[in-house]
Amino acid sequence: QEDHFKKVIAHAKEYGYIFQSSEIYDGLSAVYDYAQNGAELKKNIREYWWKSMVQLHGNIVGIDAAIFMHPTTWKASGHVDAFNDPLIDNKDSKKRYRADVLVEDHAEKLETKAQKEIKKAAKRFGDDFDQKQFEETNPKVLKYRAEKQAILDKLGLLLSEERLAEVKEFIEELGIACPISGSKNWTDVRQFNLMFGTKLGASADSAMDLYLRPETAQGIFVNFSNVQKTGRMKIPFGIAQTGKAFRNEIVARQFIFRMREFEQMEMQFFVKPGTQMEWYDKWKETRLNWHLSLGFGEENYRFHDHEKLAHYADAAADIEFNFSFGFKELEGIHSRTDFDLKAHEEHSGKKLQYFDHEENESYVPYVVETSIGLDRMFLAVFSKALQEEELENNTTRTVLRLPAVLAPVKAAIFPLVKKDGLPEMARKIVEDLKWDFNVIYDEKDAVGRRYRRQDAAGTPFCITVDHDSLEDNTVTIRHRDTMEQKRVKIEELKAIIDNEVNM
Ligand code: ATP
Repeated sequence: QEDHFKKVIAHAKEYGYIFQSSEIYDGLSAVYDYAQNGAELKKNIREYWWKSMVQLHGNIVGIDAAIFMHPTTWKASGHVDAFNDPLIDNKDSKKRYRADVLVEDHAEKLETKAQKEIKKAAKRFGDDFDQKQFEETNPKVLKYRAEKQAILDKLGLLLSEERLAEVKEFIEELGIACPISGSKNWTDVRQFNLMFGTKLGASADSAMDLYLRPETAQGIFVNFSNVQKTGRMKIPFGIAQTGKAFRNEIVARQFIFRMREFEQMEMQFFVKPGTQMEWYDKWKETRLNWHLSLGFGEENYRFHDHEKLAHYADAAADIEFNFSFGFKELEGIHSRTDFDLKAHEEHSGKKLQYFDHEENESYVPYVVETSIGLDRMFLAVFSKALQEEELENNTTRTVLRLPAVLAPVKAAIFPLVKKDGLPEMARKIVEDLKWDFNVIYDEKDAVGRRYRRQDAAGTPFCITVDHDSLEDNTVTIRHRDTMEQKRVKIEELKAIIDNEVNM
């Protein structure tokens, strides 16, 4: 799996999907640039989300709020006081860590031990192995998992009660060593705010301290009344938005999984108080179905229901995805109560209420939100799509099985040879198709090599013009996933591609 992850990173660079930012200056940690194909894939994921969330829902509208917001926003939302990570330094290696991540990684080692027991038993029992029963009854597995849970529970408790001195004691008690130096000589734990600060205005005394937004949601809350009134929205309704968010993450690792500058796709759904659980369940289901619609297989997704809730939530769950490094959060669905709107009422002095004509009363709506990282979704799609495939003739091919709707280039058009009028005919097809799809022309190397190049780049169709094409206006269309080739009329191409690439 780790190997696969390395391949993902190398492939993303080789095929023009993702580059390290400012690479000629040796890069900037946890900051990445989307390259020619990556920008297309990212845009297509964003559009796929927007279409299903905004276009297909009569009661959801989309906005595009500014990254800069009035600084009081972040006071009201709780980010100034509570958007912190607990930091700890190792005195010998001078390396800085997130205290919670150190403890979580330590706990995860117990899960690895449990997995080893399961694998051993699977080997021993062969076909008769009932994994579920084994996991539920084997004393060693049960013990490892109970220990792991006890550690996580204690960590959760200490952090939620801000008992930072005890977090340090806990790290020492568990005997956690610095992963770099092996030293167990730790500093105290302290809180570190994740928001990036900046200044608005030129002169030193009139400049205003601003933050780069750490989430897009607040841009929706502060616009609640404007959108509701100008759009004549009736509850229940939603406001959606995609856009950049910034967090000064301490441990930025795992490629684009955790970045300092990233993009979110969020939707806040405003409901009548008391109905939030119904909508929370509905959005959990709707969002999972959205993921499943891409065809990566149900086994790659699971819900993780939160037991410990943030101060603003009365229910929360993550949709976790099976990344190359295990199941990790891909999207969050949160029932946020009226926390945000009430806080903004209080700090702004403006009413953020809804008049319900049916009930003949005003109230502050409750909110159910769905929040997904676009970059994280990109990583999920890209890494699952990248496959090495054994072919019948004992060779392998690298194929990027991106869902056609998301693929950067929908078709590559080739002349079989670079003469006899074939290039002209192929270019004419490009000219016709380019109004509907992103298509490219390629005449370099033998056709077999060109097929492989497009397989690895994720292009769902290759279209080859040969000498017969000049006679009968037909071409060969080859499908990336099945490698099947078919002879079709040029005038049918548009409908064939359309059928597969449109959602
Ligand atoms: P995590 O626990 O992974 O830090 P979070 O719970 O803080 O995430 P939310 O604040 O709920 O995340 O943000 C919603 C979504 O935004 C996440 O599910 C994730 O997909 C994405 N996201 C959050 N932080 C980052 C980041 N640093 N880089 C990329 N995507 C991110």
